[in-house]
Amino acid sequence: MSTDALKKKRVLVTGGAGFLGSNLCEHLLGLGYEVIALDNFFTGSKSNIDHLSSNKNFELIRHDVTAPFSIEVDEIYNLACPASPPHYQHDPVQTIRTSVLGAINMLDLAKRLKCPILQASTSEVYGDPEVHPQVESYWGNVNPIGIRACYDEGKRAAETIFFDYYRQYNVPIRVIRIFNTYGPKMDPDDGRVVSNFIVQALKGEDITIYGDGSQTRSFQYVDDLIKGMVAMMENKSDFTGPVNLGNPGEFTIGELARKIIDLTGSKSKVVNKDLPKDDPKKRKPDITLAKDRLGWEPLVSLEEGLPKTISYFKSLLRL
Ligand code: NAD
Ligand code: UDP
Repeated sequence: MSTDALKKKRVLVTGGAGFLGSNLCEHLLGLGYEVIALDNFFTGSKSNIDHLSSNKNFELIRHDVTAPFSIEVDEIYNLACPASPPHYQHDPVQTIRTSVLGAINMLDLAKRLKCPILQASTSEVYGDPEVHPQVESYWGNVNPIGIRACYDEGKRAAETIFFDYYRQYNVPIRVIRIFNTYGPKMDPDDGRVVSNFIVQALKGEDITIYGDGSQTRSFQYVDDLIKGMVAMMENKSDFTGPVNLGNPGEFTIGELARKIIDLTGSKSKVVNKDLPKDDPKKRKPDITLAKDRLGWEPLVSLEEGLPKTISYFKSLLRL
């Protein structure tokens, strides 16, 4: 074995065939690392990582994180979990099992390997927030028995488990709270707002605004997030987080629809549908901590990121 091969960092990415996971695998391979993607293909797809299969540093393993798993790696990124509301509500018991048992199984692996492990947590831990913008010290406002709880409470429990493994077993953890992220490799049928609106606009179908469209979200382009994730994993201090990673630009859903109609030149009309239960009214990250501790901040505005995402869907859907 060459010294190069001995030195090369080996990284496990759970949920590696999903939207964020596939972008992360591509980025890590670009850094010269060996990457092992683990996925059960619940929402992810082989087509997201097909182009990586010829790379000798890339491996794909079909596995469900609710079952224990063993491998030798230097770092673990734990992303496995459906993230779109229709998908995570489709099988809520499996969703919470994925968050909780997935966290335990991956932390047991990190404990044995004494390696850093990053948890992809979410702005959903803030629920329908009463503090705006959201700071990491805010404990959130989550309905524990509502239809979003399988995801929100699953992610909150996963954070608890991460911090317990840190305090009890000294596992080097990193917890990031990701705010709404969009970009290439999103599944056109994913159900999240950016992909729904772009696909509807490109196909000339009605644009479905849930409620009156006055609720807000802050949209982050995927490349910005991936850089923040890696900065967090590779930080040399003992910074565990939780740290918000998001773009503080805040838009109403109505504004997002208008932007996408303008950028696509679509003739689609906007229709209003029922607002799903417990839909958060507003969302905007305070990213002071990420700036201070990681020297990170997002660089891609919604005006720059949307055209890139529209081009991706145009070529994917051959439109
Ligand atoms: P995604 O649905 O595209 O990807 C999730 C991946 O996990 C899929 O490939 C899926 O097949 C896999 N998976 C699901 N359950 C699994 C299981 N039990 N075992 C193995 N693999 C499993 O979603 P995404 O947007 O890429 O999200 C990735 C992670 O980031 C998730 O943990 C999500 O909660 C978190 N996150 C994403 C966002 C966002 O805006 N995209 C925001 C906050 C948090
Ligand atoms: N939304 C919408 N139309 C859609 C999909 C979503 O108006 O076709 C709304 C949804 O009700 C929410 C916002 O857009 O207020 C963001 O939804 P998404 O599912 O993308 O993410 P999350 O609610 O988890 O932030």
